[in-house]
Amino acid sequence: MDNNNNENNNNNYEDVCMMCHRTESKAGQMIKLPGNFCVCQDCMNRSNDLIKNMGLDKIFEGFYVQNDKSEDSVKSGEPVKTEETPKTDDEPDTDPDKDASIKFEKYFRGFPNISFLNLADLAGGGMASRSKVKKQSKDNKPLIDIKNVPKPHKIKEKLDEYVIGQEHAKKVISVAVYNHYKRVATGTMDDIEIEKSNMLMIGPTGSGKTYLVKTLARLLDVPLAIADATSLTEAGYIGDDIESVISKLLAAADNDVDRAQMGIVFIDEIDKIAKKKNNNSRDVSGESVQQGLLRLLEGADVEVPVGAMSKNAMVPLTTVNTRNILFICGGAFPDLEEIIKQRLHKKTAIGYGAELKDKFDKDKDILEKVTVEDLKKFGMIPEFLGRLPVIYTLQGLSKEMLVKILKEPKNAILKQYGKLLELDEVKLEFDDSALEAIAEKALEKDTGARALRSIIEEFMLDIMYEIPKDDNIGRVVITGDYINGTGGPVIDIRNEARIETSKGTVNDNITGDVTERSQLAVSE
Ligand code: ADP
Repeated sequence: MDNNNNENNNNNYEDVCMMCHRTESKAGQMIKLPGNFCVCQDCMNRSNDLIKNMGLDKIFEGFYVQNDKSEDSVKSGEPVKTEETPKTDDEPDTDPDKDASIKFEKYFRGFPNISFLNLADLAGGGMASRSKVKKQSKDNKPLIDIKNVPKPHKIKEKLDEYVIGQEHAKKVISVAVYNHYKRVATGTMDDIEIEKSNMLMIGPTGSGKTYLVKTLARLLDVPLAIADATSLTEAGYIGDDIESVISKLLAAADNDVDRAQMGIVFIDEIDKIAKKKNNNSRDVSGESVQQGLLRLLEGADVEVPVGAMSKNAMVPLTTVNTRNILFICGGAFPDLEEIIKQRLHKKTAIGYGAELKDKFDKDKDILEKVTVEDLKKFGMIPEFLGRLPVIYTLQGLSKEMLVKILKEPKNAILKQYGKLLELDEVKLEFDDSALEAIAEKALEKDTGARALRSIIEEFMLDIMYEIPKDDNIGRVVITGDYINGTGGPVIDIRNEARIETSKGTVNDNITGDVTERSQLAVSE
């Protein structure tokens, strides 16, 4: 059964030539070498010619042995001459390529006292699987059927279940994704090629940029690669090659080129590759990265290593076309607000009806007024912005939004903790004051919703440690006082008695014997 499965899996993959990195479908039948390596016929012939041209064949000739005799000859160190067996007329001509592969193996085995390194042994089992990539499907049936691309309102409805607020962003992303996959599914429409809907997402840290993209990719069931623009550098410099983002996508698609070609690439921290100001040296991690990304954003054939992040001689390559890959770039763009404010001031500062200077300072949604001009001023090059036609902003999270994020999404953090304690048959509740206190603390940290988890984890540690100790506990209510350090959580034991713990750690209050606890009991 397992064997069958393995065979089926193997049928879905094709061999890759270890020398020219072409796949079987391009280079023709492969010659299998020991250690799970494959070489295409062209490369094998070329190697043989090279050996002949260099006169090495004469040297090899001395050691060239018959397979069955090789063991003995190697042991004795004696070179054994080949015995030419005369060919009979009715014997079919042997395939010269097959011959070549046998010779190759014999050369290797024929050197006395010299053992050749089996590279597959070095790499363990992993090497073998790396020399395979998933076959490109012959029938060009689209992965996403036009009839099945969810309508924008459906996509948004699904996003609503996970992402709180950010209504505008969710709407824009739903429409853009719908159009993108419609375009992918149909190719061209009435000769008017629909442009790619690559996106630029601007929003403060922790406002849900990555989360939105991750949720989207999961809902659409497409592979997603998340890359950090700060680690990218121009090819040849220390850092990741720009094309490594496509390698990541291929890995996310299980090396399935077809799936990768319809995936989503999210490049975070895109503001960090803005053109450096007053910089006379070569800007290898800024403007050059933007230049390098142009080709990918627009659609190009990219040669990427399979099973590794960087190209090297031992890793097979495959070609991925980026035409149908959806690129979403995201960044916080600090200082962009200042640029927008300056522009707006300039417009309104002169003449009758001039606006007050601090009018825009109080505007919380100033980022929404961003234009391409502002982004150019920030340091993004026009060609790069031109390839990201959909630009939108995410709002900074307010206290109310943070409270909702705590409890409303399908995978809300409070629901997760609730579920964990439910397994111990304990009900976990947070009262409203607790939620507000947590949201206030998160706002102070200024890292958006990201702070919520760390705050909750800090407070839940004692609860998660102590509660399972005592089987009598039936319910725990986390209060605002507990979060603010002025009280403890309220604990109900199973026989309906309620314990209101006093200030201090949960440990102080809920451990100990029942008499101690009954002293703490305030009401039934
Ligand atoms: P960034 O904008 O910096 O990429 P993330 O998307 O990584 O921020 O957000 C961090 C975490 O905060 C996410 O994993 C998610 O759980 C939560 N989060 C952020 N914004 C929202 C939101 N609008 N709705 C629900 N959860 C959110």
